Amino acid sequence: MKNISVVGAGTMGNGIAHLFAQYDHPVTLIDVSEAALEKALTTISANLDRMVKKETISTADKDRTLSNIRTVSSLEEGLATAHLVVEAATENSALKLQIFRDLDVFAPEKAILATNTSSISITQIAAATKRPAQVIGMHFMNPVPLMKLVEVIRGFDTSEDTTRIIMELSQTLGKVPVEVNDYPGFVANRILMPMINEAIYTLYEGVAGVTEIDTVMKLGMAHPMGPLQLADFIGLDVCLSILKVLQDGFGQPKYAPCPLLVNMVTAGKLGVKNGEGFYKYTPGSKELIPARNFTR
Ligand code: NAD
Repeated sequence: MKNISVVGAGTMGNGIAHLFAQYDHPVTLIDVSEAALEKALTTISANLDRMVKKETISTADKDRTLSNIRTVSSLEEGLATAHLVVEAATENSALKLQIFRDLDVFAPEKAILATNTSSISITQIAAATKRPAQVIGMHFMNPVPLMKLVEVIRGFDTSEDTTRIIMELSQTLGKVPVEVNDYPGFVANRILMPMINEAIYTLYEGVAGVTEIDTVMKLGMAHPMGPLQLADFIGLDVCLSILKVLQDGFGQPKYAPCPLLVNMVTAGKLGVKNGEGFYKYTPGSKELIPARNFTR
């Protein structure tokens, strides 16, 4: 598992590329958007600078990590020598199924195809390929270089070999892999998203304001971040699409997304990534100010 191709250079893709490159894997980072590739390299470089400043890595480590990453915009070109492909493109099932059909055509026959999906069925993604035994979920957490967990999800046909290889590889990256089975939301989001949705309902019903809800959960439950701030950090569009997967997958009304979340995504308020969600985000400022008075 030496050569790694990462498909999608957004929030997660750049973190995954950074991690593998830091552990001496040659990484090919692929995105349909040249702008996303450029932004990814800038972000990785800035994150490495922060690590150098904190003295967790040296300047030589930074240079070596960056030299391990190349970027391309063509899937075909980016997959030719891959031992492992980690897909981290937009959370949309139709898009992921098409990407996996293409990966199956262009990636070497023996390559393992992993997906970083937060919620889409690994079994369904694997069925789009002719190698379902070599398809697996490799669910990193944000920010990838810092968060210890990798949720390793076995699809219905994922082989023992594929699972073992990915569990062992995750350990060599300094992570703690946890093996889970393929049901909607896996473990992480099956538990996290209903909590975030309930926090949004609590706001929507006027029980308390944004700061108050987050403060209760931070100080009362020792969470490092309140659920509304965490939703902004993950992306409100991502939260909405995961809740829809849980709702469709289990067919239970308890997973129905709060109408306030639906409205905010429709209005283009996606959280940190575009400057406004439950809080307003100003570059250079760490102050957390609610974006508006949400209580009716
Ligand atoms: P993002 O929107 O930041 O980035 C997605 C990238 O995919 C974009 O740069 C886009 O240009 C690219 N893309 C779209 N179609 C493509 C294609 N056909 N080929 C190549 N690239 C393509 O999204 P993200 O937050 O990085 O999420 C990526 C994946 O990781 C999703 O499956 C998401 O559920 C999962 N995930 C996200 C988080 C999180 O906190 N954001 C955490 C864990 C897992």
